[in-house]
Amino acid sequence: MLYCSFCGRSEHEVELMLPGMNGCICNDCAERAVELTHEYLNKIAASSLTDLDLDDLPKPQEIKEYLDQYVIGQDTAKRYLSVAVYNHYKRLNQRRDDDIEIEKSNIIIVGPTGTGKTLLAKTIAKMLKVPFAIVDATVLTEAGYVGEDIESLLTRLLAACDYNVAEAERGIVFIDEIDKIARKGDNPSITRDVSGEGVQQGLLKLLEGSVVNVPPQGGRKHPEQKMVPVNTKNILFICGGAFEGIERKIAQRLNTHVVGFGAGNHVSKADRDKLLHFVAPQDLRSYGLIPEIIGRLPILTNLEPLDRDALLRILTEPKNAIVRQYKKLLEMDGVELVIEDDVLGFIVDKSIEYKLGARGLRSLFETIMIDVMYQAPSLKSKRYVLTKEYAERQLSESNFDILSACN
Ligand code: ADP
Repeated sequence: MLYCSFCGRSEHEVELMLPGMNGCICNDCAERAVELTHEYLNKIAASSLTDLDLDDLPKPQEIKEYLDQYVIGQDTAKRYLSVAVYNHYKRLNQRRDDDIEIEKSNIIIVGPTGTGKTLLAKTIAKMLKVPFAIVDATVLTEAGYVGEDIESLLTRLLAACDYNVAEAERGIVFIDEIDKIARKGDNPSITRDVSGEGVQQGLLKLLEGSVVNVPPQGGRKHPEQKMVPVNTKNILFICGGAFEGIERKIAQRLNTHVVGFGAGNHVSKADRDKLLHFVAPQDLRSYGLIPEIIGRLPILTNLEPLDRDALLRILTEPKNAIVRQYKKLLEMDGVELVIEDDVLGFIVDKSIEYKLGARGLRSLFETIMIDVMYQAPSLKSKRYVLTKEYAERQLSESNFDILSACN
């Protein structure tokens, strides 16, 4: 008869007995041992977290300058982000016994799709000194009740720091498409949370700061996985969403103000595109976010729609601009790519015409360049000049207009 060397129970009293060299361990004790080891390792990890020395960390201005290298325009959002990240470092640096506890300032960025929300998040991630994860809120509401649990938003963050819980607990999470969990009118179903309100309540828990059990492998596909408790108190949340149609809510609110306070008609003249400038928390509320969530996202900023000039700059200016990338590609074949002046304007105009925005620039460029890329490696010539006529021909031959109309 085998007995567990830890709890003393016999092999008949437990599910599994694992024999060792000089003793045995039962499944319960083994599990407990794993838990204790994790706890211990986490404690060690927490105490060995490197201090973030404010002197060594990039200041808000430096963070913004870094963003400027990759993201065109969007100055306001960049400023808000840089300050938020820097303040996050400060909070993490604060002594526990400090009387003045700095509260975290989660951010919400409202901006039309394709104007750089994700790009901003990805770019800032490259220079952060804390773990960072980008997650998508749509997975939470997809198909109503089959959506994932809200805690799974933190799975990526855990993965980003090799499951070091202490590290994750001071990380930053970017939740994209937050508008997808806005309440959509009255909920007709009692079993399916299509309105997203339940998801919002769940999210509130994360934003407020509490200990949540995170499935380390995410989702509901692994029901047997052991949950990892993560405290979200110090995790900074940055939310982004297009909030399509929110301009209408803003206009409604502004118009009542104009009438109410006789503020003149400057607002009614405001160009539709500029309305987002005036976005305020109550607009998010009319859009369908619950007030508690809005209260937990105290910093509200917006991204500008990209005009023709901005799109032109996007083609050439960022460090990894599309034009630079294609030049590099051909350079690797020993071919110099020369782009005539009017080509870029033509591409931008097409992107605007097909309502593709910044996202369309790459696919337009790709369509125009495909034959050149196909032939360049075998070309004898060391120079290729891209003309507007060629670009026009390539686009019309590829039926790009028909294809993009189908999108
Ligand atoms: P969204 O706001 O929908 O998250 P993205 O950040 O994914 O938009 O932008 C889509 C693509 O468009 C990016 O990968 C980038 O190439 C380009 N882009 C959008 N906005 C900008 C910008 N302000 N500066 C530079 N590139 C941009």
